[in-house]
Amino acid sequence: MNMQNDNIGFYRAYAPLSAGSISPKGWLHKWQETNGNGWTLTYAKNRDPGVYGKFWNRNKTSEAIMDENDQTLTLCDYTAYFADGFVRYAVLNPGSELETEWVEWLDKLLDSQDDDGYIGAFAEGARWKHWLELFSQTLIIDALLYWYEARGGQRVLDCCKKAMDCIIHAWKNANDPANYGKMSLTPWTGIGLATTRTANKLYELTDNKAYLDFSQEVFGRFGRTEDYMRGGDALRLGHNVIETDYIGYTAMMYEYCGNERYLEASRKAWKMMETYLCVDGQPHGGECMIHTGARINCEHCSSVELFYTANAMARITGEVKYMDAAELCILNAYPSAKTADGMMVAYCHSPNQLVASEWGVPHNIDIDADFRASRTFFSSAHEPLCCNSCGPRGIPFYLDAMVAKEDDGIAIIYYGPYTANFNISDKPVTLDMDTCYPYEDEARIKLQMQSEIDFTLKLRIPHWSSGAEILLNGKPAKEITVPGEMLALKRMWKPGDIITLKLHNPVRLHVTRKSEFAIRAACCVVNRGALLYTLPVNEDWQFYTAPANGPGTNIISAKVVMKSDAKWNYAILMDIENPDTCAEFVALTVPEDAKEFDGNSPVALRVKAKRVENWYSEGDIEHVMTPGAPILPMRLSETVEEIALIPYGHTCLRMTYLPFVPPV
Ligand SMILES: [Zn+2]
Repeated sequence: MNMQNDNIGFYRAYAPLSAGSISPKGWLHKWQETNGNGWTLTYAKNRDPGVYGKFWNRNKTSEAIMDENDQTLTLCDYTAYFADGFVRYAVLNPGSELETEWVEWLDKLLDSQDDDGYIGAFAEGARWKHWLELFSQTLIIDALLYWYEARGGQRVLDCCKKAMDCIIHAWKNANDPANYGKMSLTPWTGIGLATTRTANKLYELTDNKAYLDFSQEVFGRFGRTEDYMRGGDALRLGHNVIETDYIGYTAMMYEYCGNERYLEASRKAWKMMETYLCVDGQPHGGECMIHTGARINCEHCSSVELFYTANAMARITGEVKYMDAAELCILNAYPSAKTADGMMVAYCHSPNQLVASEWGVPHNIDIDADFRASRTFFSSAHEPLCCNSCGPRGIPFYLDAMVAKEDDGIAIIYYGPYTANFNISDKPVTLDMDTCYPYEDEARIKLQMQSEIDFTLKLRIPHWSSGAEILLNGKPAKEITVPGEMLALKRMWKPGDIITLKLHNPVRLHVTRKSEFAIRAACCVVNRGALLYTLPVNEDWQFYTAPANGPGTNIISAKVVMKSDAKWNYAILMDIENPDTCAEFVALTVPEDAKEFDGNSPVALRVKAKRVENWYSEGDIEHVMTPGAPILPMRLSETVEEIALIPYGHTCLRMTYLPFVPPV
């Protein structure tokens, strides 16, 4: 990839389809609709001045001011996340109430732009002092550019150009103390560095190289390229969200300027990141990255940002490993921290979790156990409003990336029920995918167009499959599928052609190391296809007033504790060399009014298990906490029971790392 690929633009294997080209169907449609109409529409309609109105009711300061309980009074602003989710659901749902609300809000936002081009959530004296302030400016430009790509509108593009020119002016005058004041957190660091991503996008849309020059200057000064190139572990103790974002920003610098050092650095950093990934696909970190494991927290935002970064690397390199990583995260980690109605999220969650509360696991376990309360409870307005407002964006990011363009064809990156519209050689093509993926291993893909077209259609064969069969109009194709690679089907495609993909998905285990001196039992984590399977634990949702709240009206919060009849202390009967012989993949009946990821999974893995009678929860009677792996020797019940492991995203309380014993 040394040469710029003119056909698809810039230095990337695949180019995204334009905004609004992919329409989800079936479960994907329901999932996005429920989520868009959940938190995002509620916050749009409640007109909260601290969220809806933040871009015109601006923060007077960017200093961090906390109250005596460490609640944030001022510091940051996350309403740009709200805007970015808002616009994406508006584009996904044309003609909806959400779109009407967005159009009204957009007008108010455009009107709020200052004469010098500033658009953001901070009053004049509060600017250029903190990266969260610059972040709020740059992400709002991103949101507007998304709308411009989907619907056009010169006023929107002009607003973005003016706003970016204002940022560039500040950058050029960076040494002027009048602009920087007592700057403690330079705006160009943290997620303020996202400015480079926005400037690159503006370069793509306007062809004005000044934007690329600017992003290269900023990135050269504040990017982490050299830290990554030095090797070792540049991420340790870094922030789970920011580090994840930086890997993506670095790759995206390569995408636009072609400097291969950026791509190499990004790949190295990804390798560092892999050691911090939770089995559910997102980085561990509560919020700083140091430990990994069954009881270690993951912050919801980094499931969204991990998807974004992995997906960017997939697009740029064309490599399946990044696509697999992105899909694992969005189908497991991401829904596990959300309520099915799209209203509440858990700021943090962990793979083994017997309670989701303010005491479950300390929020910042790495530095000081009492540094703010644990945030594993669910809320529609966590303090700060970071995960609530960032979270909704995950689904639109996923849907936009399902199919991508290539030089002489298209690539199917993620499977699911959807319709994609694109052009090949200026001829319109509709790709219609019929499947219940990831609950089904098969996808049926139908091509609709006016006449025959010669092009390459690529299919991702995930690394976790053991192989795949491809049928073309019912007949086996001659191409050989290789797990972990894209399969290229070059044909003269005819209207109505149907490609059937049948993935072979064995049960796979991740087995933990034996503990030191064999004090605790080793555990295994069960996967099949894109899904991680876990033992659901009977949940008792207790609505209450959470210990800390962000802005919003009618805030709902809940802690989740085990029901008194909950059974969780199982060892599974598992032949770790042949897990397929010990787990049966079964379909379950789902009630008609079920919501996506509400606990009513359409599939399960049935396994045999025995209770571990000497494995108890930790904490005290009123404050139950999740225990570590059982201490050896395990006292096993005589009775063999059959239990169902269900997809992780359907659970809130669960045991994912389970001890195992050989089958009888
Ligand atoms: Zn967050």
